[in-house]
Amino acid sequence: MAERKTRSSCLPYGYRRGAVQPRRGTILYHLGLGSNQGDRRDNIEKAVIFLQSCGRVLRRSALYETTALGMPGAALFYNLSLALESRLSPPDLLAACKEHEASQGRDLANSHYQSRPIDIDILLAGDLVLETPELTVPHPRLAGRGFVLVPLFEIAPKLVHPVEKLTVARLLSRLRGQEKIRRLD
Ligand code: ADP
Ligand code: MG
Repeated sequence: MAERKTRSSCLPYGYRRGAVQPRRGTILYHLGLGSNQGDRRDNIEKAVIFLQSCGRVLRRSALYETTALGMPGAALFYNLSLALESRLSPPDLLAACKEHEASQGRDLANSHYQSRPIDIDILLAGDLVLETPELTVPHPRLAGRGFVLVPLFEIAPKLVHPVEKLTVARLLSRLRGQEKIRRLD
């Protein structure tokens, strides 16, 4: 007998048996947040509150203090990962995130590898693969960054990267572990 398709068969691996199930018409996003300027904990908290206005926060990792990769001498980052169920399209969510970043004093015109009060990255958007000048999903540097993968591993270890075809756990195990990453409570 043919296997009956259930709604949960559309879910990314790792959520199939869990309590987390995105509702119809929504996208299950995984986001990476970072801050290394000002009151880092408060900046992250404000970003989480902002993201709650974009949808439903389903999972939230602990905060991690991490070295600023590719930014020698820069202050340490606080990083966190979230699972967000949202009706917003990826470009609309990115636009909203950029607006929030700017409202918190981030200079978006001159921001790459610069210290920032808040950075919100779209790591994954369900199984979507997208490449535009403004937005690439999965996030192009996701697979090589411990400071992103460690918090993501905490909330979604079995989630599969739709391009690499590897779980977050496997991506993390491939890293050589040279970053300093400390879990805060
Ligand atoms: P990083 O997040 O790698 O530290 P930046 O935050 O400095 O780099 O990069 C910001 C730019 O990256 C934004 O202008 C945005 O348009 C672009 N971008 C491309 N893909 C993504 C994504 N998946 N999430 C967030 N920003 C992205
Ligand atoms: Mg960013």
